[in-house]
Amino acid sequence: MSKVYQATHVGKVRKNNEDSLIVIEPETFVVADGMGGAAAGEIASKMLIDITKNFLPAVPEPWDENILSKAILKANAAIIREAQQNENYRGMGTTATLLHFYKGQAYFAHVGDSRIYLLRGDFFTQMTEDHSYVETLVRLGELTPAEARVHPLKNILTQAVGAIDDISIDADNFPLNDGDIFLLCTDGLTNMVEDETIAEILISSENPAESLVKAALDNGGHDNITVIVVKV
Ligand code: CA
Repeated sequence: MSKVYQATHVGKVRKNNEDSLIVIEPETFVVADGMGGAAAGEIASKMLIDITKNFLPAVPEPWDENILSKAILKANAAIIREAQQNENYRGMGTTATLLHFYKGQAYFAHVGDSRIYLLRGDFFTQMTEDHSYVETLVRLGELTPAEARVHPLKNILTQAVGAIDDISIDADNFPLNDGDIFLLCTDGLTNMVEDETIAEILISSENPAESLVKAALDNGGHDNITVIVVKV
């Protein structure tokens, strides 16, 4: 069994925490970062979590590798419907980053700019690709990753759950290793704390989730901060 640490914090600037997270037994982990006016962001990320929580355990095993993507598509349709029915929710959306362990494999599915990192031995790797405007520029070689982190348009997403009917979901799977440490997080962590510092905290902290949130707060806490750490 894995050891799991989780934490979420509103940060030092925002009034609401629009992030949501859930750990679904046995081994599914989800973070979501909502967006939209008034309380709509909170509604969208919570819908993603609730739909995932209800959908996944109801699917009979064995799950196929598309199961996480199916959960995201279900949430996408529901969020779009909700936004159409309620004027206050127009334009709401959420990131969706899901990780699931099954028979020695790690499966993930992802939309938006929340992230999954894997610390394996000396290697600390971002497993997900941000669906963001600045990430597109980084890939084109027009921005460095360091410039992207402080870019004024860094919050613009190219994909979000609840935005359009036919979202494209990144999904993949790979074999787990003993000692793997996974981090799921929202951009309230990664915009505030450098990857190198994140890796150091994952290695050294007794409670890495609390320590990562503290590091983001110490650096300004400009956004909601959400982290799940899984030590395999
Ligand atoms: Ca955020």
